[in-house]
Amino acid sequence: MSLEGIVTLENVNRVYHMGDHEIHALKDISLSLETGKLVVVLGPSGSGKTTLLNVLGAIDKCDGKITVNDLEITRLGKKQLTKYRRKKCGFIFQFFNLLPVYNALENVEYAIELATNLSRKEVTERATEYLRKVGLFEKRFHFPSQLSGGEQQRVAAARAMAKSPELLLCDEPTGELSVNEGKKVLTVIQNMVKERSDVLTILVTHNQKIAAIGDTIVRLRSGEVDSIEEQTPIPAEQLSW
Ligand code: ADP
Ligand code: MG
Repeated sequence: MSLEGIVTLENVNRVYHMGDHEIHALKDISLSLETGKLVVVLGPSGSGKTTLLNVLGAIDKCDGKITVNDLEITRLGKKQLTKYRRKKCGFIFQFFNLLPVYNALENVEYAIELATNLSRKEVTERATEYLRKVGLFEKRFHFPSQLSGGEQQRVAAARAMAKSPELLLCDEPTGELSVNEGKKVLTVIQNMVKERSDVLTILVTHNQKIAAIGDTIVRLRSGEVDSIEEQTPIPAEQLSW
């Protein structure tokens, strides 16, 4: 079986040691996920969602084996992991995490610069194109403080996708947003999934309603996979929560 186009986790465990206390945040997780899909990881607070994204994005370590398109990331050294994070992973965090002293365009340009060898001009062109995709061309020179939460999150989505990642990792991307702003962000993410069959998008949420936009729902409970379900996704515009 070829593993091309597939992200796999085999017996992934993450245990945090707090003094003499142990927290088993991920318990023996084995999963095989196809690119081109939107996978929603659904689980209550504390179920291990963020830990799962962080080990996939190599922000956190774990035991077990993770491969991303044939690259075994659990065997990589420090330098290779930095390269993996910069070039292959796009992150969208709950709290946007834009650089406050860079405007929207510069935030996106910076991520492209770290990930590619494009010329200055090409970097600007690509960043502009992605800001246009998320509906923020007019506001590309605005600083984060001059944008609403939803607009900042759409800049973060443009930044994550503009580097052409293999994995797009979204951690409660609408957690801080109004329903209307949240729907716009989810629509942007869903559109990007449709456009890019070579990307695996994983969105984690505690919100059952939001899970309806996924092609696949992975339910997490106390660090364990409870169920995996394929479904026909509904367009994010049709959601309400
Ligand atoms: P979720 O994102 O689903 O709310 P998390 O992945 O953040 O869950 O956390 C899973 C469990 O691991 C929780 O019990 C949490 O307290 C614990 N945990 C997460 N990160 C750490 C850490 N850095 N140190 C210790 N415990 C942690
Ligand atoms: Mg979390």
